[in-house]
Amino acid sequence: MLDLQEKVSTVKGVGPKKEQRLLKLNIETLEDLLYHFPRDYEDRRETKKVRDLEDGEKTTLELQVHPLKKRRAFGRGPSLLQLVGQDDTGRIVISFFNQPYLGQIISAGTKLRIYGEVKRGPRGLETTNPDFILLDEKQKNHWQEIVPLYPLTKDIRHKELVKLINNLLESLKAEQENEIFENLPEDLINANKLCQRLMALEHIHFPKNAKGLKVAKYRLVYEEFFFLMITLNFKKTKVREQQGIPLQGNREVKAFLQSLPFEATKAQKTVIQEVVQDLKGSVPMSRLVQGDVGSGKTVVAMAALVVAVAGKTQGAMMAPTEILAKQHYETLSGFLNPLGISVGLLTGSLTPKNKKLMQQKVREGKIDVVVGTHAVIGDKVDFHNLSLVITDEQHRFGVRQRKTLSNKGNNPHVLVMSATPIPRTLAYILYGDLEVSVIDQMPKGRKPIETKTCPMEQRDRVYEQLKKELDKGRQAYVVCPLIDESETLDLNAAIDLQQQLSKNILKDYKIGLLHGKMSYIDKEQVMKKFTEGEIQVLVSTTVVEVGVDVPNTTVMVIENAERFGLAQLHQLRGRIGRGEHQSYCYLLHQQVKDHTRKRLEIMEKTNNGFLISEKDLEIRGPGELFGLRQHGIYNLKIANFFRHQKILKKVQQDVKALLHQDPKLQQEKNQKLRRIIDQKLLRYRD
Ligand code: ADP
Ligand code: MG
Repeated sequence: MLDLQEKVSTVKGVGPKKEQRLLKLNIETLEDLLYHFPRDYEDRRETKKVRDLEDGEKTTLELQVHPLKKRRAFGRGPSLLQLVGQDDTGRIVISFFNQPYLGQIISAGTKLRIYGEVKRGPRGLETTNPDFILLDEKQKNHWQEIVPLYPLTKDIRHKELVKLINNLLESLKAEQENEIFENLPEDLINANKLCQRLMALEHIHFPKNAKGLKVAKYRLVYEEFFFLMITLNFKKTKVREQQGIPLQGNREVKAFLQSLPFEATKAQKTVIQEVVQDLKGSVPMSRLVQGDVGSGKTVVAMAALVVAVAGKTQGAMMAPTEILAKQHYETLSGFLNPLGISVGLLTGSLTPKNKKLMQQKVREGKIDVVVGTHAVIGDKVDFHNLSLVITDEQHRFGVRQRKTLSNKGNNPHVLVMSATPIPRTLAYILYGDLEVSVIDQMPKGRKPIETKTCPMEQRDRVYEQLKKELDKGRQAYVVCPLIDESETLDLNAAIDLQQQLSKNILKDYKIGLLHGKMSYIDKEQVMKKFTEGEIQVLVSTTVVEVGVDVPNTTVMVIENAERFGLAQLHQLRGRIGRGEHQSYCYLLHQQVKDHTRKRLEIMEKTNNGFLISEKDLEIRGPGELFGLRQHGIYNLKIANFFRHQKILKKVQQDVKALLHQDPKLQQEKNQKLRRIIDQKLLRYRD
């Protein structure tokens, strides 16, 4: 039996160089090679007559060869074999470069089937280096049927890849051990009427017809979802077996809620209850809290920290940026210090001395709650007694970072907070190892933000509106987008915009600039001035996207809004509408196509992040939406969360039923499955 986990280098003809090139396509093992699916197909089945050919057309022809016309060798240069082929309607000149051996195969009268691009030249119709077979040749040839088109890198020839995959499939077929090769449980195959794995793989690469391809695709989508779901869920049961630290803190949480200057929303209370319940257990908590921007997730985080400290242990809270960490530090100190809880800040910009000091305090347990950036906390901090790790704005973290941190201490409870509102089912899948809570309610008295999409011609009017707000004492953000993903260009655009605004439209106002390349100190200074109202307008790149909270800001102008995804616009917009005053968001856009403008107009119609992200998901797919998971097990090759929702639902049911029956996969019939999952967990360990 061929072992699919073997490296591709075990295949004949794959040397170290080719191995490297294949690696660029993420093809490391035989299995990777088999699962390198075509991105599309070219149907070459239909033949055309010479008479009907058009210039530039790619097509299949069946021809008989006339006496050879020319054979040339240009010294050491390329050789040329030129001949004329004809069918009952006309003739075409065929040139083969660099295939001198063809002279021995092809002679007058040979019947050929060719596929190539046809050009009309001075001598009539021609084609150069077409794919071909001899028509009397019985042997199967993939070049003349439905041809797979693969994602390639520049160093791998298409034909090479086809040959590798074809050879591998042929050797698998020769083994005729379909049952052993199958990787899905038999009852699921039967219940879902799936085709066998080998057949699916054969048809996805070399389909004979549309129906076969469809059946193959269905099976492979099912398979891909199946292993994703079962691996994640199986991991979940594994987490459940670990011992964590049970924490009690009902009384303290109550006191904390009473100390707040506002009444927690019902949604906040419900989620806090869920968290408190989790923390009581001896199984470490693993929970994702989702809530739209401004829904008050920090209150939930603080409640959890209160419980950790009530249990005489430490908690940590990580944020993706220094600004956000600082802000959390201030918020947490403000609310928790009065309850006798000490809060410390750990970020990269502390002086080495202060950092060391803080680290020491943390180690000695003199600090109850540590706030910081993941880079810093994740790196070299030892805790005295860590029981709870919170990560904010999770969509910015990799799974890996989350893991590093939770590896500290004794299986700490993990709470993850995300403002990317994603449909619950999808969240469950993407964060399969987490339970999900949703804060589906905004604090009372929030006024929905008024959003307008405006073409550039209205730019002056928009800035007039902005000035009106400034004159009332409010503040504003002006956001300019990433340009071609280049931070430098991006930065220049922000600088230009700031200068342009301060010279013209906004010359009587105080303008500050915030961008990703500034040092932390500079950023912090600008933020401080903005918070204190010394700066009225903050021109910024998307760094304001996350978490920044200045309630007096009531206007946001987003330049070139057409370049953003909806979910991102929603995140940005969440920076305003945080205070008592009515807020306004203007989406300035260039001349755009109708569908782009319509997409932007969704923002006018709703403030509901869930709706918006569903739209975004529909338009752009989850990869872009979450900027996520180019990694291992989440790297879906054929299945698509959005397009294949139905199959996904079915898989979800099947996996649930299977794990319900055999939670630890101990039954004899599930042993093979268990081995496959262990293998995957090992390979994608992170
Ligand atoms: P996010 O969910 O975006 O992290 P925050 O936790 O930053 O939201 O909360 C946004 C703002 O709303 C903060 O100023 C916070 O003090 C305030 N807030 C949170 N909960 C409530 C509530 N129940 N009532 C009124 N204001 C609240
Ligand atoms: Mg927040």
